[in-house]
Amino acid sequence: MIVKPKVRGFICTTAHAAGCKASVQEQIDYVKSHKHAEKGPQKVLVVGASMGYGLASRIAAAYSFGAATVGVIFDKPASGARTATSGWYNTAAFEEIAANDGLYAKTVNGDAYSKEIKDQTIALIKKDLGKVDCVVYSLAAPRRTMGDGTVYSSVLKTVGSAYTNKTINLKDNTVNDITVEPASEDEITATVKVMGGEDWKDWIDALKAADAIEDDAVTVAYSYIGPEITHPMYADGSIGKAKDHLFATAKEMTASGSIRAYISVNKALVTQSSAAIPIVPLYISILYKVMKEHNVHEGCIEQMYRLLNEKLFAQPVITDDEGRIRMDDLEMQPEIQAEVDKLWKEITTENLDTHADLDGYHKDFYRLFGFGIDGVDYDADIDPDVQILSMNW
Ligand code: NAD
Repeated sequence: MIVKPKVRGFICTTAHAAGCKASVQEQIDYVKSHKHAEKGPQKVLVVGASMGYGLASRIAAAYSFGAATVGVIFDKPASGARTATSGWYNTAAFEEIAANDGLYAKTVNGDAYSKEIKDQTIALIKKDLGKVDCVVYSLAAPRRTMGDGTVYSSVLKTVGSAYTNKTINLKDNTVNDITVEPASEDEITATVKVMGGEDWKDWIDALKAADAIEDDAVTVAYSYIGPEITHPMYADGSIGKAKDHLFATAKEMTASGSIRAYISVNKALVTQSSAAIPIVPLYISILYKVMKEHNVHEGCIEQMYRLLNEKLFAQPVITDDEGRIRMDDLEMQPEIQAEVDKLWKEITTENLDTHADLDGYHKDFYRLFGFGIDGVDYDADIDPDVQILSMNW
């Protein structure tokens, strides 16, 4: 089958197996070619391991420290004329390459919020690894189904009053004003249920109850702060309320036992999740331009390599005054933000090319699905039916 991108709204409904494999290989090569901290985790559980920051965390742990990794993903294999999801291909590629390099890597596919998937994952950990010493929690999900069938859906809205600012329409590359409406109390509660810390703590509690986590284990979840223009939409919006809960949960978990829980505030990057947030993609494309010009641009793998090797497993862990790890340190540098702010004020449809790295944004978006990767022949006939090695255990 010859696979081409088919974009609908914020996602691409096709994914390219060979492209995803090449992208995973590039990320592995990046980590392999950099020097590693002396000490790091050996047995790592990554919840949300198939794309974006979770996948990069898995790769960084495996190839910095030789860590055994168990990944929890929620992806679909190919079926008939449909390709698999890119997360499926990424995971298949990661497991295959890791196995060739003598690294343990197994994956559980299903809803991470469910008890069934937690039980299945913990059974696998106990059988193969005994206990994990690090848990990365990197879910970005639109909804959460509770044990009793109740479904909570997260929203990307403001809190309090509506907010109007610029956004980009990525279909026709135009800059327009958008008004984001405030979330209702119920919507805020639902967003906190989905993206807050409750499920993260459920994972840690379940691992503890099963004696499947080391007493001195480290766990990390990801957050975002960003500049003021994005605050009404993000940090002070419904998703920000969930992130506040995530941070409060980290503090609670650390205070209540020997496990240390951290929040890492990561850089804004193109991922399947961030593409859906109003205003943020325009900010990201301006940010890319400015950070690339200053030679400080990073993608997920550079961020997660740096997180594990330079911050989370440094002695002592490097945090800000509030105890958060700041992987947005380069993004938030005053000179970077001053330039972004200037361009933000001036940007219109007419000057998009000079004021933003739209090309970089689009390239990164297509790369998420395995398209536009150097060295991949996109006219070649490929078999979309790729298996994940460990799914046969
Ligand atoms: P992503 O969409 O690339 O990855 C999310 C992962 O979660 C995917 O592997 C997906 O398959 C998995 N997932 C979703 N629902 C699941 C479920 N029910 N069960 C199992 N797996 C499920 O997103 P991302 O941007 O890498 O986000 C990861 C975390 O990083 C989120 O907490 C996000 O808020 C945070 N973050 C993202 C950015 C950014 O700019 N992208 C910046 C800072 C922090």
